[in-house]
Amino acid sequence: MTRVLLLGGTAEARALADRLVAAGVAVTTSLAGRVADPRLPAGAVRIGGFGGIDGLRTALADYDAVVDATHPFATTMSANAAAACRAAGLPLLRLERPGWAQPAGAAWHWADSHDQAGQIAARLGRRPVLTIGRQQLAAYLPALADATVLARVVEPPSIDLPLSWTVISDRGPYALPGELALLREHGADVVVTKDSGGRYTWPKMLAAEQLGLPVVVVRRPARPAGVTTVNDVERVLAWVLAGD
Ligand code: NAP
Repeated sequence: MTRVLLLGGTAEARALADRLVAAGVAVTTSLAGRVADPRLPAGAVRIGGFGGIDGLRTALADYDAVVDATHPFATTMSANAAAACRAAGLPLLRLERPGWAQPAGAAWHWADSHDQAGQIAARLGRRPVLTIGRQQLAAYLPALADATVLARVVEPPSIDLPLSWTVISDRGPYALPGELALLREHGADVVVTKDSGGRYTWPKMLAAEQLGLPVVVVRRPARPAGVTTVNDVERVLAWVLAGD
C-alpha cells in the first residue's frame, strides 16, 4: 500500500487527509509546529521541521509518495520537497488552491513583496489592517511604524511592535459580519492581505469591498519548477490510488 507523506498546515491538507484515511491510505501529515494548538488532521501526524533538504530526503525512506499541500506562501518547504523528492526518486504532487481573481471594479493594489505592500498601504491610508500573518510583520515596520495598525495573527508575533500597533490573535473561519465589524471598529482605511486564495479568508475581501476600502494584495511567490500541481483534493486522491 502507498505510504503518503502529506506536507500540511492548510485546510486543504486536512480535507485531503480525511479522504485518504477514508480510502484506507496510510497517510502521515507533517506540520511545521508553528501553531501551539494546531487543528489535527485524520491519520498519523508528525510535527516539526525535517532539517532542510537532506533531513527530508532521509525521512522519505519511510514513504512512497509525497503530496505538498502547504500554503502558497510556504516557499521553502515546497522547494525542499521538490529537491528531496527529485534526489530520492519519489513522486511528488502539489495541491494548491487557486489564487484570487480580482472582481471587476474592486480596488486592489498588487504588491510583489511585503516591503512593497507596506509602502503601498502607507500611501493609501493611516489605519491599515494587516492580515498577512505574523512572520512577515517586520517587513511593514519601515513604512507603517507611525500608522495606527491592527494586525490580525494566529499566534502572537515574536518581535516588538510600535505602541500605535494593536495585535489581535484569532483563527478562522471568518464570516462577513465579523469582518465588517473588525474593519469598522478599527476605522480601517486600507486592508493588506496575501493572495492566499480559497474561501476561508475571502470574507475580509467582501467586507473591504462593501466598505469601499482599498486592498493591498501580496502576489504569490514563484513555485519550484517541474512539479505537477492540481487544485482539488479528488485529483490527489485519484493520483495516490493510481499508484497503489
Ligand atoms: P516555509 O517558510 O516554507 O518553511 C520553513 C521551514 O519550516 C521549512 O524549511 C521546514 O523546516 C519547516 N516546515 C514548513 N512547513 C512544514 C511542514 N508542513 N512540515 C514540516 N516542516 C515544515 O513555511 P512557513 O511559510 O513558515 O509555513 C509553515 C507552515 O505553516 C506550513 O506548513 C504552511 O502550510 C503553514 N501555513 C503557512 C502560511 C504562510 O503564509 N506562510 C499560512 C498558513 C499556513 P526544515 O527545513 O527543518 O524541514
